[in-house]
Amino acid sequence: MNKFNHTLPVDDEGFYGNDKRYGGAFIPQELQPNMKALADAFYEAIADPEFMGEYRRLLRDYVGRPSALYHARNLSKHYGTNIYLKREDLNHTGAHKINNALALGLLAKRMGKKRVIAETGAGQHGVATATAAALLGLECSVYMGATDVERQRPNVERMRMLGAEVVPVHSGNATLKDAVNEALMAWCQNADDTFYLIGSAVGPHPFPEMVTTFQSIISEEIRRQLPELTGHELPDYVIACVGGGSNAGGAFYHFINEPGVRLVAVEAAGHGLQSGEHAATMTLGTDDVLHGSRTLTIKDSEGNPLEPYSISAGLDYPGVGPLMSHLAKTGRMDVLAATDAEALEAAFLLTRLEGIIPALESSHALAGLAKMTFRPDDIVVVNVSGRGDKDMSTYLANMPGKKEE
Ligand SMILES: *Cc1c(COP(=O)(O)O)cnc(C)c1O
Repeated sequence: MNKFNHTLPVDDEGFYGNDKRYGGAFIPQELQPNMKALADAFYEAIADPEFMGEYRRLLRDYVGRPSALYHARNLSKHYGTNIYLKREDLNHTGAHKINNALALGLLAKRMGKKRVIAETGAGQHGVATATAAALLGLECSVYMGATDVERQRPNVERMRMLGAEVVPVHSGNATLKDAVNEALMAWCQNADDTFYLIGSAVGPHPFPEMVTTFQSIISEEIRRQLPELTGHELPDYVIACVGGGSNAGGAFYHFINEPGVRLVAVEAAGHGLQSGEHAATMTLGTDDVLHGSRTLTIKDSEGNPLEPYSISAGLDYPGVGPLMSHLAKTGRMDVLAATDAEALEAAFLLTRLEGIIPALESSHALAGLAKMTFRPDDIVVVNVSGRGDKDMSTYLANMPGKKEE
């Protein structure tokens, strides 16, 4: 634990756990003063009632929080237990990412920065960042792999309408990993006047701790809502999907030190764990430094980062945040992996039973339900990290009963 955070097992240097196996800040010497300034500003801000008051006001009046905790009776009946959905899909811009984008936007302003830069894969974080930048009067550049710019037109158009500059990245495979590299490099060159508004709980310290702290509103609300709905203080399970680990970190945060609550992470098995086409970082990864922190990463047979694959663009990342690596390797958290097909099936099941179209990412968390066994009196919380509007073309192409062409 560091002197500011008494919930996460993170020390002053951003290492997780007593073994300090994951985390840290593996960055060029010349960036170290910037990271120190960022960490100082972050710890100061979260201790400042005025900053936190403004953040909470925006969460309530702009994002629409608290997000509902919904007893999904039909889905519960299907699985023979009690399932509660945390509805991050109901947030403004349709996912949990806005919780973090607003907080970091406020922090950028507090630090006197005029411009934010961000990376994005599917464009969800780019849209959240462009939204926060429009609201807070910040200039905004979003780095996006050229392949993704083509694949994710509607989100590119949204970002441009919101006033952001979208910078296509042509290096590597021109996807998320390359966009992160490019955004980190652009930030290194302009670290004095630019704020790097990172989209997940990844990167060098203090980024993972900052993002997880600001997403912890999710579990803070669950702890308040659950007793009202169930009469029980704690759930038996909390389930979330993992790309980098920000919605999972936020949903788990206030349960990490409650050993009776089982934390379950579901990552993307893509075409299958044996296929070489997946993003199953915690199931199959090994320790390495990626994007400034030591964590679990997947590699090809030559030891280079494996080009990750998932039907869901938001889970398509070759690493994972250091908190997730720590929780996975210490056994505090169970790790499951759901294939594309399993995620699609879970999405159609939720849609037909509850009238809720989840994001493809969230469908992986829902697919976790089919891999577990529950008792009739268990209380199971599933974090629905986002809504499925952005995934409609994929869903329509895979509708059950649709004939193989
Ligand atoms: C980006 C995204 C994710 C994956 O990111 P995490 O940092 O692991 O939460 C999950 N769900 C949705 C809806 C997303 O947009």
